[in-house]
Amino acid sequence: MRRGNHAAIVDPGDAAPVLEILAAENLTLNAILVTHHHDDHIGGIPELLDAFPDLPVYAPRKENYAFPHTPVGEGDTVDLEPLQLRFNVMETPGHTLGHVVYYGANSLFCGDTLFSCGCGRLFDGTYEQLYDSLQRLAHLPPETKVYCTHEYTQYNIRFARQLDPENQALAEYEKEVKQRRAAHQPTLPSTIARERACNPFLRCDDPAIQTAAHANEIAPLAAFCAIRQLRNGF
Ligand SMILES: [Zn+2]
Repeated sequence: MRRGNHAAIVDPGDAAPVLEILAAENLTLNAILVTHHHDDHIGGIPELLDAFPDLPVYAPRKENYAFPHTPVGEGDTVDLEPLQLRFNVMETPGHTLGHVVYYGANSLFCGDTLFSCGCGRLFDGTYEQLYDSLQRLAHLPPETKVYCTHEYTQYNIRFARQLDPENQALAEYEKEVKQRRAAHQPTLPSTIARERACNPFLRCDDPAIQTAAHANEIAPLAAFCAIRQLRNGF
């Protein structure tokens, strides 16, 4: 994210592309926001801190980090004054136990909790935690822009279409995503409205998803567990 010459970044797995764009666009880096402890989200931080020793880094309070940082958790706010942005921190355990997301300025930086048409795998959390975390995100305002950390949309849609072949919104999204990827454009950000319409992991109360999941009981959480397991083998 940027305003004027100021920039902040989320989950820098590598320093090189960040340093390149800062130099190319003459930007000052003001802060790093971290959603969780996996290497592909923090790998670039030591090198960025070498380049900018006083740079504020915000990272989840419930996880351990070797670099200096400000720990944040549920209910905290992060003020990025040079960018005139304020984010609320929400804890969304499931992918990892300490995972946080940053919500503000009509935007959600959701790390590996929510992907477009998908969600993160379980590492140290439980199905129930991830389900509850996704439900909280699903209830943010529909127009919220969703910035996931990974561009997995096209592959996720292939899985979603198998579960939900009659879903017209999903069929249209598939076409749009194909065009965007063919033109080497990102599919992100998505929106909460689109994810509610298309993402099977947010639609576990829908009879189509429950039937496709072959869940033993008609309950959204059971369908969620079933489709998360199906996705692992997809
Ligand atoms: Zn991760």
